[in-house]
Amino acid sequence: MIRTKIVATMGPAVSSVDVLTRLFEAGADVCRLNFSHGTLDEHAIQLRNIREAAAKFGEPIAVLGDLSGPKIRLGQVADENGTGGMLIDVGDELVMQRTPIVGHDRRVSTTLPHLVDDIAVGDRILIEDGALRFVCTKKLPDELHCTCTVGGVLKTAKGINLPNTAINVPAITERDWESTHWAIANDLDYLALSFVRSPHDLQLLREHLANNGSDIPLIAKIEKAEAIKQIDAIIEAADGLMVARGDLGVEIDLAQVPIVQKDLIRRCCAAGKPVIVATQMLQSMIEQASPTRAEVSDVANAIFDGTDAVMLSGETSVGKFPLGAVHVMNHIAESTEEYLGQTENSREPAVKLKTMPLSGAVARGVWAIVQELKSPLVVIWSQTGATARIFAKLRLNLPILALSSDQRALRRMALQYGVVPTPMPVPRDMSELVGAIDKLVQEKKLAPAGSRIVIVVASALGTPGTLNGIILHTIGDGWRSAGNADATIPLGADALMKT
Ligand code: ATP
Ligand code: MG
Ligand code: MG
Repeated sequence: MIRTKIVATMGPAVSSVDVLTRLFEAGADVCRLNFSHGTLDEHAIQLRNIREAAAKFGEPIAVLGDLSGPKIRLGQVADENGTGGMLIDVGDELVMQRTPIVGHDRRVSTTLPHLVDDIAVGDRILIEDGALRFVCTKKLPDELHCTCTVGGVLKTAKGINLPNTAINVPAITERDWESTHWAIANDLDYLALSFVRSPHDLQLLREHLANNGSDIPLIAKIEKAEAIKQIDAIIEAADGLMVARGDLGVEIDLAQVPIVQKDLIRRCCAAGKPVIVATQMLQSMIEQASPTRAEVSDVANAIFDGTDAVMLSGETSVGKFPLGAVHVMNHIAESTEEYLGQTENSREPAVKLKTMPLSGAVARGVWAIVQELKSPLVVIWSQTGATARIFAKLRLNLPILALSSDQRALRRMALQYGVVPTPMPVPRDMSELVGAIDKLVQEKKLAPAGSRIVIVVASALGTPGTLNGIILHTIGDGWRSAGNADATIPLGADALMKT
């Protein structure tokens, strides 16, 4: 089993329960519903199928809802001559009009009617992460005339970037609020927000969630230069980041993207928050059965950089080989992680937590013990998943079995590097817990009898609390018999025994 997590974007190519089940078997851990595409009714069907497939698969699968944010998109575009959209060549003129229409005959509309007022002659208009490019050449009251500088096929709802234009749009649109309510009602596990510009954008969304009784963790998609300028405040306001390389690569100099990727991953490591590397990871597999050398290197390097998860976009949502793409990603992660295991002990963790200093200290202590004892396994009781989130940052070359009785917390753990979400009823006391772990490890053949594993527990097992115990347990030894635990660091263990 690999430690890197795989996020798969949902879409028509992976809509059936059968394909989804196989997608999970191939290694997908998190399903991304992109609210930019499709209707809420379509997402509802997709979600029902995800849940059914996840139940068949039998392991926790997280669902991440991706809010469009202030992203401008093309309106609907008719399929002309079987191209799947509208073919535009270099030098062709395209008209963008104010009133919505189904695009045809080189005339389209966008999701933002007042765009025709904001764009000036000479401004550049980039479509589909910059794959197609235009320059505005003429402005009329209700339409813009644009000349194509890089051609291709314009398709429904493709994103538009305007690197030279200041546009006035709220951070969270009407459509986003609708999607947010849907996400709350359907108990999604994560919400990502596109085009985050400041921590305030996340605070606004979080307040709204709280007012509606929801605590869905928020992932900030980093794809604007403004966001990079105040990245630490954004990381603090978010529960995780996505390196959204598609838009990032047109909003900033493309050559800066790998540097930003490394920097964001490093900062998330220190902050104890998950990070996802996204976009074009295996892009050629949308059409082809095998990836390019460069793509394979890209996935491996994201893992070397220290990411929690790698993401597939069009490869799974609309690609010809969605299962193949997950298989390939899984295989790359397998060999990269094997190499990491042979060549380096995981680096001493850089986690320096402002909010959970005790957990950070315990995590670093566990890291040192694991190096020393060569433990095959770390087991943590992480009722809310917060502890698991920090332990993921240790990037141990071994699995972290994270136990909880909370299904929601278990699903959220599906995004965290190396964490194996494991359901377990709340034990009455420590001896019951250690006994249950011993049984589970032997049943699942996770570690041989006689090996020493590290168990980390929190005060009141079933309720959220701070970390306060490290147990070194020898597999096969019953907890209740004498001389079994090699060492106990009984920080508050008394309280534990009484619960
Ligand atoms: P974002 O900036 O949020 O990543 P995107 O437009 O790049 O938005 P992706 O989710 O990355 O969207 O997917 C890549 C492409 O796959 C999209 O541009 C779209 O054409 C297609 N796609 C994705 N999801 C769907 C869907 N549910 N239905 C139809 N097409 C989809
Ligand atoms: Mg984007
Ligand atoms: Mg994308």
